[in-house]
Amino acid sequence: MINKIKNNVFQLYFKEFGSCVYLLLLNGLRVLVDTSSKENKEELLKDLQELDIKPEEVNIILLTHTHWDHTGNLPVFKNAEIYDANNIDKLTLEKIKVIKTPGHTKDSRCFLYQDILFSGDTIFHNGGRGRTDLPGGSEKEILNSIEKLNKIKYKILCPGHVD
Ligand SMILES: [Zn+2]
Repeated sequence: MINKIKNNVFQLYFKEFGSCVYLLLLNGLRVLVDTSSKENKEELLKDLQELDIKPEEVNIILLTHTHWDHTGNLPVFKNAEIYDANNIDKLTLEKIKVIKTPGHTKDSRCFLYQDILFSGDTIFHNGGRGRTDLPGGSEKEILNSIEKLNKIKYKILCPGHVD
């Protein structure tokens, strides 16, 4: 299902378990935030087709972290540059601000674009936050990260999972 957030920002969400995928159209670049789980491959491709985008036309993928339910469809996007915590410093999209938010995982990152925060599994709607009982999780770190996010003036929250 496609939910239009702004003229150039779309949320794709799925019936099966897996993260939401966000599509940003930035000066001719097609940017995805996360790729959901393999189970959602067909639906993801169908949604992209509806938006007139072929998988090989996706230029950049930003990963909020490397859990399987966010990275499952990376192989579909053969021409995309993939950025995660390891190489995100090399990202040259000036309009995207990267925020380190460890806690759910050590490698968790949030992305700020204008007044939209892509929060991965760090925070959800209605004050929810990511679990910290998985490997690399830390309750103390996620609380620090949430404090950091609270200081950012964003208006629209785009989390990795919605109900
Ligand atoms: Zn996760």
